[in-house]
Amino acid sequence: MRTSQYILATLKETPSDAEVISHQLMLRAGMIRKLASGLYTWLPSGLKVLRKVEAIVRDEMNKAGAIEVLMPVMQPADLWQESGRWEQFGPELLRIKDRHDRPFALGPTHEEVITDLVRREISSYKQLPLNLYQVQTKVRDEVRPRFGVMRSREFLMKDAYSFHLSDECLAQTYQRMHTAYCNIFDRLGLDYRPVIADTGSIGGSVSHEFHVLAESGEDAIAFSDASDYAANIEKAEALAPNVERPAPSQALETFATPNAKTIADLAEQHNIPATSSVKTLIVYGKADEAGNRGLVALVLRGDHELNELKADKHSLVFAPLEMAKEEDIVAAIGARPGSIGPVGLTIPVLVDRSAAVLADFVAGANKDGEHYRGINWDRDVTGHEVVDLRNVVEGDPSPCGQGTLQIKRGIEVGHIFQLGSKYSEAMKAAVLGENGKNQTMTMGCYGVGVSRIVAAAIEQNNDKFGIIWPTAIAPFELAIVPMNMHKSHRIPGVAEELYTALQANGVDVLFDDRKERPGVMFNDMELIGIPYTLVIGERNLDNNEVELKNRRTGEATLLSIEEAVATIT
Ligand code: ATP
Ligand code: MG
Ligand code: MG
Ligand code: MG
Repeated sequence: MRTSQYILATLKETPSDAEVISHQLMLRAGMIRKLASGLYTWLPSGLKVLRKVEAIVRDEMNKAGAIEVLMPVMQPADLWQESGRWEQFGPELLRIKDRHDRPFALGPTHEEVITDLVRREISSYKQLPLNLYQVQTKVRDEVRPRFGVMRSREFLMKDAYSFHLSDECLAQTYQRMHTAYCNIFDRLGLDYRPVIADTGSIGGSVSHEFHVLAESGEDAIAFSDASDYAANIEKAEALAPNVERPAPSQALETFATPNAKTIADLAEQHNIPATSSVKTLIVYGKADEAGNRGLVALVLRGDHELNELKADKHSLVFAPLEMAKEEDIVAAIGARPGSIGPVGLTIPVLVDRSAAVLADFVAGANKDGEHYRGINWDRDVTGHEVVDLRNVVEGDPSPCGQGTLQIKRGIEVGHIFQLGSKYSEAMKAAVLGENGKNQTMTMGCYGVGVSRIVAAAIEQNNDKFGIIWPTAIAPFELAIVPMNMHKSHRIPGVAEELYTALQANGVDVLFDDRKERPGVMFNDMELIGIPYTLVIGERNLDNNEVELKNRRTGEATLLSIEEAVATIT
C-alpha cells in the first residue's frame, strides 16, 4: 500500500473525550472514528487489524473442529419468548418492530437462533457432536458505552455453540475450545489469564473468562501466588472462605439517586460552576445502626461537563458503619476503580479540589440524605449483579487453600460456558438417541470479543510515541520510509525496488511516498505502531545500505539492500 493512495488519518492531538490509552491511540492512529455513542466506523488501518485478529480466531476455530455459519443480526422476538429471555434480558436487548408491527431484537448473542437451527436440522444422535461458529456483529444497548470499541453498542464477536448427547461429551469439547482460546491469545501475543467465572444471564454451570491483563481493565481477577487457581472476583467471592461479616441488610444495599436537578443543586451549594471540568465520582456510603445512610468513599473516574451529567439511573452502594474510612471500604469491598463496576452515585466534582473540600462536599450531600433513598437495585448500571466483595482481599488466603490471593485488573476478551440443557430444554431441541428415544441435547457456548481484542492489545502494547503492534496483528508489518525522496535521484528507484521485492515475498508493506519531512513520516509510523521501518537515505545509500528499525526495541540495523529483503522475509 502506498500512503498517497491510502487514508492514514493520523491525529496530532489527543482527543479529549477518550479516557483510556487504547481509545486515544485508536483515534490518533486513524483506526476508528465515532459515529454516535458506542458506534464506530473502522478506518482502513483499524479494519486491517480487526481482520487479522478475526483470521487468527477463525483459524483456531477451524482447527478445533468448529464449522462456520452466519446468522442474521435481526432475530424474531418469538424465539426470545420461547427461551424466556425476552423478559429477562432487560434494556441491553435492542428491540425493534418491522413494518407489520412484528417485534424483533438485534442480536446481542445467538443462543436462540442457533438452537432453532439445530432443532430443525439435526435429528439423530449420529449427527452429534456438532460445533458451529460465526463471526458476526452483535448489538447491545450498553448503559454506558465507553472506552471506544472496548465497550461499544455494536461490536464484532466470534460465537460458537456446541451440541452433544451427554455432559461428558460437552466437557470434552469445552476443554478443546479452552485450548483453542489459549492458542488464540498466545498467537495474538497477549498477556492473558483464563479464570473461573460465573455464568450470569447466559446461564449454565461451568464457565471460564479469558482476561487480558491491563490496569485499565473494568474487571478484577483474583489468583493464587502458589497455584493455578484464578477466578474472576465475583466467583472468588462465592468460593472464598467465610469470614465474619455483618448481616446482608446492613452490609450492602443499593439505592437510586436523586434526579439531575438535585445534583445540580448540590453543585450550586458548593459553588461548582456548571461548565467545570468534573470527574465522575463512584460513591460508597455507610449506614449507622439507626439506618441513617451517608456517603463516605469516593472513586474518581472520567472527565465530564457538569451539564452533561444525568443521574437518574445511578445507584449508591452502602457499606457498614465500621468502614468509615475510604481506604477501608476500597480495600474491604475491593473497590478499586471499576472493580465492582460503575456502581455508585455520579457526582460532579472539581478535579483540582483537595480531599478536604471533597469531604466537605460529601458531608453537604449527606445532609440531603433523603434524596438518596429510592429503588432497590440488585444490578449495577452495567447490568451486572451487585456482589459483596468483602471476602476477596489481596493477601487473604486463596480460596484454593494454597498461597495467598493476588488481585489484578483484566479486560474480558473471551467467555466460554457449559450451558447444559437450558436452551435446548426450553426450545425442545432433541434428537433420536441410540435407544430410539428422544433425547434433549446438551450445549456449550463460546464467545470471543474480536473488536475488543484490538483495544485490549493496544492497552498492553504502547509507549509515549504510540502503538507497538505484535507483528501477527499489525496493520502493516513494515513501513518503507524514503527520506526526502523527491529531492533524490537514487532513493525513488531503491524504494520502489524494495517495495516490489518485499511485496512479492508476502510482506504487508506500507510505502510512505508522501512529500513529507522525514520527522513527520517517522512520527506517523511510530504512532500507527508498525513493527519495522526500513529507512532509505542518501548517506547510507553511498554504502549501498538501508536502515532497519525495530519499533519495540528502537534498535536500528544497517543492511545492504540485498540483505534487507532476505532479513525481513
Ligand atoms: P462484559 O462483562 O464486558 O459486559 P459480557 O460478559 O457481557 O462482557 P459476553 O456475553 O460474555 O460479554 O460476550 C462475549 C465477549 O464479547 C466478551 O467476553 C467480550 O470480549 C465481548 N463483548 C461483550 N460486550 C461487549 C461490548 N459492549 N463491546 C465490545 N465487546 C464486547
Ligand atoms: Mg455485558
Ligand atoms: Mg462479563
Ligand atoms: Mg462474559
